[in-house]
Amino acid sequence: MAGIQPEHLNFLLIPFMAPGHVIPMIDMAKVLARHGVNVTIMLTPLNFNRFSSVVNRAAVSGLPIQLLQIRFPSEEAGLPVGCESADTLPSYQLIHNFFVAIKLLLAIVEEKLEEMNPIPSCVICDKHLPWMAEACKKFEIPRVAFDGMSCFTQLVMHNLYVSKIHESVPETVPFVVPGLPDEIEFTKLQLPGLFNPGTSDFFEFREQVRLTESQAYGVVVNSFEELENGYVDEFKKIRGGKVWSIGPLSLSIDDNLDRAERGNQASIDAAQCLKWFDSRRPGSVIYACLGSLARLSAPQFLELALGLEASNHPFILVMNAGSESKEIEKWISEEGFEERTRERCLLIRGWAPQVLILSHPAVGGFLTHCGWNSTLESVCAGLPMVTYPLFGEQFLNEKLVVQVLKIGVGVGARVAIHLGEQEKPEAKVTRDRIQAAVEMVMDQGEEGCERRRMAQELGKMAKRSVKDGGSSCLNIKLLIEDIAKLAKQKKSV
Ligand code: UDP
Repeated sequence: MAGIQPEHLNFLLIPFMAPGHVIPMIDMAKVLARHGVNVTIMLTPLNFNRFSSVVNRAAVSGLPIQLLQIRFPSEEAGLPVGCESADTLPSYQLIHNFFVAIKLLLAIVEEKLEEMNPIPSCVICDKHLPWMAEACKKFEIPRVAFDGMSCFTQLVMHNLYVSKIHESVPETVPFVVPGLPDEIEFTKLQLPGLFNPGTSDFFEFREQVRLTESQAYGVVVNSFEELENGYVDEFKKIRGGKVWSIGPLSLSIDDNLDRAERGNQASIDAAQCLKWFDSRRPGSVIYACLGSLARLSAPQFLELALGLEASNHPFILVMNAGSESKEIEKWISEEGFEERTRERCLLIRGWAPQVLILSHPAVGGFLTHCGWNSTLESVCAGLPMVTYPLFGEQFLNEKLVVQVLKIGVGVGARVAIHLGEQEKPEAKVTRDRIQAAVEMVMDQGEEGCERRRMAQELGKMAKRSVKDGGSSCLNIKLLIEDIAKLAKQKKSV
């Protein structure tokens, strides 16, 4: 890299305001800083508070990393004060206001860029902030997109967009996505909103996201190449080679305090949580959590809780119920659910220290909504999954887990329920389906053991990929070299 060394490069990271997007960007910042580049992460006050202790610890340890606070225009967009992250919306009916606020961020970010000296050598920007493309263009900064998805998903989405195959079949009839290394089937009702719009959709926004992502200089992916054999190369062909798989980013966490504080203030003390595990046999516990945004209806939560109870395994159930929580609490107390399951259930109301839990040897399986971060965190922990996709690209992740990687069993979810949509009868997943999937994943027979073996093997591969000489470690170096070349060209003009 003759000319510009990493310590003379400045990366600006701009995450989208939702836990599943900020969390991996904070990890990414640490990874980049460990490779010597200066990293600034732009956050609005709520996320600034959520992440400042983790980032400060990294800075104190000597990493060239810092936070830059910007204002979030909640009030101008008709949002309650302090409502700055998708998980804090009192109702998903306000999602349109949230996008208005995000659009208003453009002027605020431009003001900050005006003040920045030196100007960033590169901006890594979440694709869900499409307006930032304008700012990068204005300041002539190379923009790399981050979309928090896998190459598998990227390729499926691209091939659907180009082929439009989903438009030619009735919405409940399965079709095969063309041009993939494996025969992957979906129905239209399982697809992300771009192909399967919900009741209150924002098509224009989705189209803008798609367009600005395709115009970005390149894409960073939170995945590792060995996980997605075949899919990475195909996606690279579409993107002219500029795809850097640099994950799993959660493996950047190397101490228990960072694990315990990851993403938000946990609603359970880490010590209390670890104590609960004390008497549990290795691999005996199933951990159930549906991410930071999903809100199950009360009847659906009840099916989940009863399915877990019926499986007879010790379990941790994370309850993130939003407006349904009153009804769910009423059911829990009237049924005596907590008392009945006290010996073997830990109910976490609010935020769970997920990566800390997944790293405990007593955990044997993860019931997940297949958000990409959770999916990868399960892979890193070498755990098989019970897959319960709900919305977004989660049905696509489920296919990768169950069909391609063979490390999961689905609960049989058939229809996406987009954020903000009411319960759909056809999307109901009954307790016996949940029980059956949990039993299969936790099974000690031949099939269960083989699934576990595969998951553990992938976990080892994940860890190798981020070590010196591993594929993700190499990709970070290639990304930095690429940006260094651009910076040098710019200097010599
Ligand atoms: N998470 C957590 N505790 C919780 C819920 C979520 O630590 O109680 C973390 C989880 O480890 C993951 C992220 O939040 O890193 C959720 O991202 P994902 O892509 O899995 O799902 P999303 O929340 O975006 O639907």
